[in-house]
Amino acid sequence: MKGSQYAVIGLGRFGSSVAKELIELGFEVLGIDRNEEIVDEMSNVLTHTVVADATDEEVLKSLGIRNFDCAVVAIGDDIQASIMAAILVKDLGVKNVVAKALSELHGKVLHKIGVDRIIYPERDMGIRVAHQLVSPNLLDYIELSKEYTIAELSVTGRISGMTLEQLDTRKKYGCSVVAINKRGGIVIAPTAEDTVDERDIMVVIGTNEQIEDFQQAVS
Ligand code: ADP
Repeated sequence: MKGSQYAVIGLGRFGSSVAKELIELGFEVLGIDRNEEIVDEMSNVLTHTVVADATDEEVLKSLGIRNFDCAVVAIGDDIQASIMAAILVKDLGVKNVVAKALSELHGKVLHKIGVDRIIYPERDMGIRVAHQLVSPNLLDYIELSKEYTIAELSVTGRISGMTLEQLDTRKKYGCSVVAINKRGGIVIAPTAEDTVDERDIMVVIGTNEQIEDFQQAVS
């Protein structure tokens, strides 16, 4: 959201990467970590940085944490600290709290205390890598529900130069090409005459099964 302010608690590998990217995207970021060295490293990159223990309510209050639109609890290894920091920021009134979980149980606890979004970076990345290993032309995907997915598929030599009419994905596989990312720009809602060419990326929507069928047929 434009003008939003973010607080990132814990500037380890995950937290610092979230914080840096938010800065790149043009947002203001307060970074909090109890490790002075880590805070020093990030002090030139982030809008504000503080060395503080995020499990200390008074510290969080004095930082005015309730004025932030979103807090990211990126403490991983110290599960107790992660849970305490999450409860405190939620209790102090931060509307949108996102937290990283190390395990299913850690995630369940975060969910119970009202954390709005729980991220499992290692688990999710592992799943993604496995999908990409078995389907090399699958570049990325978003699961819309248990059944439906949006996937980015690279255009293989087998279908290069074909129009969407020739591909006929809806009739043959049930899935639809909703965009084609070409070198010169993205074609949103392409028509039947639009072609897919090698090195283009197709954005396809459908059930997991439909997308898999399509992908196997073109690879
Ligand atoms: P990653 O796997 O992303 O590197 P870590 O768990 O190793 O995650 O790092 C989390 C960061 O959170 C560390 O830099 C650590 O100093 C910081 N941290 C841990 N507990 C607290 C706390 N109570 N208050 C503030 N920062 C904390």
